[in-house]
Amino acid sequence: MIQKPRGTIDILPTESPLWQWVEQTIKDTAALYGYSEIRLPTFESSELYKRGVGETSDVVQKEMYSFEDNEGRSITLRPEGTAGVVRSVIENSLVSGPMPLPLYYLISCFRYEKPEAGRSREFYQFGVEQFGAENPAADANVISLGWDIFKNLGLDVSLEINSIGCRHCRPKYHKALHDYFEKSKDDLCETCLDRLNKNPLRILDCKSPVCSEIAKNAPKTVDYLCPECEKHLEKLKKYLDTAGIKYNINPKIVRGLDYYQRTVFEFISEDIGSKSTICGGGRYDGLVEELGGPRLPGIGFAMGLTRVMLALNKKENLPDLSNKPHLYIASMGEGARLKSFEMSLALKKFGLNVTFDQVGRSLKAQMKYADKTGAKYSLVLGDSELEKGSAVLKNMENGDTTEVDINNFEKIEEIIK
Ligand code: ATP
Ligand code: MG
Repeated sequence: MIQKPRGTIDILPTESPLWQWVEQTIKDTAALYGYSEIRLPTFESSELYKRGVGETSDVVQKEMYSFEDNEGRSITLRPEGTAGVVRSVIENSLVSGPMPLPLYYLISCFRYEKPEAGRSREFYQFGVEQFGAENPAADANVISLGWDIFKNLGLDVSLEINSIGCRHCRPKYHKALHDYFEKSKDDLCETCLDRLNKNPLRILDCKSPVCSEIAKNAPKTVDYLCPECEKHLEKLKKYLDTAGIKYNINPKIVRGLDYYQRTVFEFISEDIGSKSTICGGGRYDGLVEELGGPRLPGIGFAMGLTRVMLALNKKENLPDLSNKPHLYIASMGEGARLKSFEMSLALKKFGLNVTFDQVGRSLKAQMKYADKTGAKYSLVLGDSELEKGSAVLKNMENGDTTEVDINNFEKIEEIIK
């Protein structure tokens, strides 16, 4: 028996309605904020992620699914969405179109990680990226979209925000971090030791218990912000207050990817165990330039749908999303089956979900099947019904019956709806 690869999931027909509802809720909310969908390749050249995500990130250092194609090019299955979007907006000259440019995507991503609850090797993300707005109003608007999505999904989350400064104040902060971690050099994990000189900010995001213990008393970004970054953060808070969005300033939030600056944020859910970050994002004003485009600010977030599902499945009172047939047409004999097919097609035009016997089962077995699928009504067609042109429509819930003209579809619809 061949089994699915470790760290992947099958989304079964019983589970997909909830996924579809989540995706639709997300799309509807994003539409209210003026976002349009962008669809991109599942794989890109490895170079894109090395430059776009950053050489010192966990993703690039340990988690990429990379391979050589038949012509020796290094290809990587997308581990995240932002780098591909930035590549595409540059390549397709969207960077010189009207700004701001608000985009979203619903994608699966691939990371070679140790699978556990809320962490898989192929996982699903909803992400947004908005280009061309540097004002804190843009940060607040993007955060507000995330906030509204969680509200519309009925999920309780908390919002943590931080500022990690810009290219002017970051060097001073890096030095303070470097000096701080230098003292505990011998205890850092190997990856963090490497980060110490390259990018000490990453150490704050390390998942090893020893490194996070050391990081507890590390200098805080907010104490090193330049006046401009400080002003940006203060304005953002004002916008969030106006929106009625509650937040905590959390100096530990730095985000795992290299291209962030100034605003970073995470939505946290209590319902998904230790993998409590359900959505993370921030501002990346240098990334478009880094990938060969013009200097163009950007801000976005990525929401882990696998974790959204974990949180939703903890809840009671989920919406009833089952697609039960409105009507099952049972038939006896070939002529009746042909008629039941014809009727099912005609009734679909009235928006009814109608099924009929495609197997050739006995009447008893057909009724048992209708019951199992949860059909609301049933109707039995045999030779005598065909002759009369009428049949008995039965309400499967209360047993009520009505004699109906089998060619009067308006009437049948009226009873069923
Ligand atoms: P983590 O700290 O949990 O590893 P991250 O910083 O690597 O997260 P991002 O790259 O910011 O995560 O991705 C955004 C969101 O995608 C996360 O908040 C999470 O909800 C989800 N996510 C990331 N990696 C995985 C994974 N392997 N499995 C499931 N969801 C994931
Ligand atoms: Mg990660």
